[in-house]
Amino acid sequence: MSADLPEALPASTLVGHLRRVVGSTHVLTQDGGTDLSAWEQDWRKRAHGRALAVVRPGNTDEVAAVVQACAAAGHSIVPQGGNTGLVVGSVPDDSGSQVLLSLTRLNRVRAIDPANLTMTVEAGCVLQAVQDAADQAGLLFPLSLAAEGSCTIGGNLATNAGGTQVLRYGNARELCLGLEVVTAQGEVWHGLSGLRKDNTGYDLRDLLVGSEGTLGIITAATLKLHPRPACRLTAWAAVPSLDAAVSLLGLAQSRLGAGLTGFEVMGQFALSLVDRHMPQLRVPLWQQTPFCVLLENSDSESETHARSQFEQLLESAFEDGLVTDAVVAESLQQAHGLWHIRESIPLAQAEEGLNIKHDISIPVSRIPAFCAETDALLQREIPGVRLVNFGHLGDGNLHYNVQAPAGDDPGAFLRTHEERVNTLVFDQVAQHQGSISAEHGVGSLKAAKLPHYKDPVALTLMRQIKQALDPQGILNPGRVLSP
Ligand SMILES: Cc1cc2nc3c(=O)[nH]c(=O)nc-3n(C[C@H](O)[C@H](O)[C@H](O)COP(=O)(O)OP(=O)(O)OC[C@H]3O[C@@H](n4cnc5c(N)ncnc54)[C@H](O)[C@@H]3O)c2cc1C
Repeated sequence: MSADLPEALPASTLVGHLRRVVGSTHVLTQDGGTDLSAWEQDWRKRAHGRALAVVRPGNTDEVAAVVQACAAAGHSIVPQGGNTGLVVGSVPDDSGSQVLLSLTRLNRVRAIDPANLTMTVEAGCVLQAVQDAADQAGLLFPLSLAAEGSCTIGGNLATNAGGTQVLRYGNARELCLGLEVVTAQGEVWHGLSGLRKDNTGYDLRDLLVGSEGTLGIITAATLKLHPRPACRLTAWAAVPSLDAAVSLLGLAQSRLGAGLTGFEVMGQFALSLVDRHMPQLRVPLWQQTPFCVLLENSDSESETHARSQFEQLLESAFEDGLVTDAVVAESLQQAHGLWHIRESIPLAQAEEGLNIKHDISIPVSRIPAFCAETDALLQREIPGVRLVNFGHLGDGNLHYNVQAPAGDDPGAFLRTHEERVNTLVFDQVAQHQGSISAEHGVGSLKAAKLPHYKDPVALTLMRQIKQALDPQGILNPGRVLSP
């Protein structure tokens, strides 16, 4: 298709061509009078760009034809799934020349192979639909995160999403066996392997996962499924300190083994925001303790077995002074209620006002020291600053967010302090051998910071890979690697 197209095609000719490729109802433009803000604005409403057009192909061949046309015309492409990313990676810049490639019409479950424990789905499938399809086949697709009702599997893989089950099942990367990808040249790589072993050269799948739309467009994936546990039990425990939370994690790992599928920590201020903005959720135990922990035990035997394991674990934890109070959910509904509180923290935070978000990972053993030191440095820098600290402690991943002192204007707080706070927190992360992005990715929000914290040799290799795979620089430019 691209062979017919001259170099540096005028924008209007490109749009006309894209209309012929995907059908005119699937190419949206401002001129057509459509409000494009759902595609042009990011989830946190921190960036609002302007696209030449929003293009919605319906299958892989159409994706390939769109990429060929954009490459021939010299227009860059921003791939987008559910647009729930948190690092400004899925929205266009404000040049008005980028093509926003929405993958949401590629939403078929192509196949489920129960004997091989795999399913093949298209990139635009919403995560919850993937979970449901696995469930209907009597199996489990364990990737789970608060945005699962609107994020897509393509976006999950492009950001190597984590979520609440990583402790047991790994990130999106560990759940992916094969990919179908449209390259920057508009070719299709047919890599939908369901193999668990394949040592035939460089691992392109692992390279593409986590590349945030900068190396190729994921159009489909073969995913790993797991047997469904017989029972999932959830407990909510008050712990006297972060040290105690880390010790409780070690105890839970030794007692529950692979049954421990979730271990989340939530600071008192984070829970107070849920209590304030969503009082109907009735947050347990938060007033009496600096941290609460949410534990999930997925048992392959029975509920009786899971309950007795949990009781023994909590008894030992009480005796060791690691837990001061605890509740175990009596029903699935109660368990969902407890998880809902945890997953409501980001929304409660947003209600409180804009804040400076961090998604960091630190070796678990160093988390108490990191928090003690960083809390103190921030308090010294900005007296009265409020810390919304919560996250996937089992994976060493904290959402260590910084909120303006009570009564201060959040917008002014961000304008004045964001740069300095980021540097302070990231320097601390580096001192504790951590990462400035545990799961959300780099996007454009952290692209300028990456050179300060990434090994220089790794960064050079990354640039060489980008150059080799996308020499024209048309795939999501400026994301991950700053110009
Ligand atoms: C309330 C909330 C909770 C969240 N919780 C978590 C969490 O616990 N763990 C976690 O890891 N993340 C979390 N996230 C962020 C997370 O990255 C996204 O929700 C999700 O993985 C992105 O999927 P998406 O389809 O919305 O992708 P988008 O936001 O559309 O895109 C994200 C990135 O992937 C690229 N991309 C999208 N689709 C494709 C494709 N098919 N091919 C190539 N590139 C593509 C985009 O260009 C962009 O760079 C959360 C977000 C929200 C709003």
